[in-house]
Amino acid sequence: MQIGILGAGQLGRMLALDGLRLGHEFSLYDPAGRPSAGVGTIYSDPDRTQLETFLAQVDCVTYEFEHLPLPLVRDIAARKPVHPCPEALRACQNRALEKRLFRSLGIPTAQFRTATSPEQLAAAARELGCPVVAKSTTEGYDGKGQAVLHSAEEAADAWELLGHEQLVVEQFVSFNRELSIIAVRATDGAIAFYPMAENIHREGILRFSIAPATALPVEVEEKAQAHIKSLMNELNYVGVLALELFDTPEGLLANEMAPRVHNSGHWSQNGAVTSQFENHIRAVSGLPLGETAAWGPTCMINLIGQTGPVEKILELPYTHLHLYGKAEREGRKVGHINIRADSMDELRWRVMNTASLLPGCPDFDWRP
Ligand code: AMP
Repeated sequence: MQIGILGAGQLGRMLALDGLRLGHEFSLYDPAGRPSAGVGTIYSDPDRTQLETFLAQVDCVTYEFEHLPLPLVRDIAARKPVHPCPEALRACQNRALEKRLFRSLGIPTAQFRTATSPEQLAAAARELGCPVVAKSTTEGYDGKGQAVLHSAEEAADAWELLGHEQLVVEQFVSFNRELSIIAVRATDGAIAFYPMAENIHREGILRFSIAPATALPVEVEEKAQAHIKSLMNELNYVGVLALELFDTPEGLLANEMAPRVHNSGHWSQNGAVTSQFENHIRAVSGLPLGETAAWGPTCMINLIGQTGPVEKILELPYTHLHLYGKAEREGRKVGHINIRADSMDELRWRVMNTASLLPGCPDFDWRP
């Protein structure tokens, strides 16, 4: 099958790399004209002069990036099957819509308000009680477009700093840890869940994912599965969906979802029977889903800004290095390392050892 991917970053690249093994062929279409890490045929097309050629090439279309122009994706969906459907994309492009969808399905979130002026932001901060997190309603990612307010008096400065027309203002959640669940849904409605991951962020950017998450009561995992299942069924979703959650003493709170393969699922390339990338391609091409079980304790370390000492990393007998072929730049995801072990203690030691080689990598002070 000829599969088109909207977006040409590392996620598109890794989808194509896994999909090629299934005999598919790939064309990547980057509507912003800034392909960063694609593979195969890449259409870099900010002026839409190559859209017809791209569409003539492909049997179906998926995407690796949620900040796509919705009218474009709808146009494409009128002509070729698009999975996940544009409706899923719409919900994920707008934090207010997304939170309302969560709530309509009984999925708990932090209390929130929307604000379209500095006065409304100050009022929301007073009503919710500080600290609060203000986020741009659209276009935010990796902690960008966010500010924490410690008092309502900070509203005017925060409004100016964020520079958006509408903000979502959330209660600050003092969570125990951040978790995510990734699931995949096939065209016939079958769903498979990956073991949940524990995610460690610094400055809003994911640094480490540990899977399967430790000390996770069965009922908490089942709750997360029920949440993501209800989202997928509601949206008649096909492909991989990721749901980010805060683990709090009162239970799970949904933070956001991503209608695509997700950074917190990269561990599955070496730690699960079928990777999230292969399963996404299986789903969108109408194939049966693959087994999602983990082989054992696994950790993913993101390489941010620079690849680090590649040869030293490869000399370690337990590292799986994935480089995206991107130019090094501060704050940019340029690759990741997956590490597996036979026990969580062994995993911790291996990750600490590897992290100590990586310039700018935070200490791995996690304990099982
Ligand atoms: P987001 O862009 O919504 O995924 O937020 C990026 C990161 O900011 C999250 O992974 C959390 O570490 C933190 N964060 C976001 N929202 C909240 C919140 N309401 N309370 C506390 N921390 C938050």
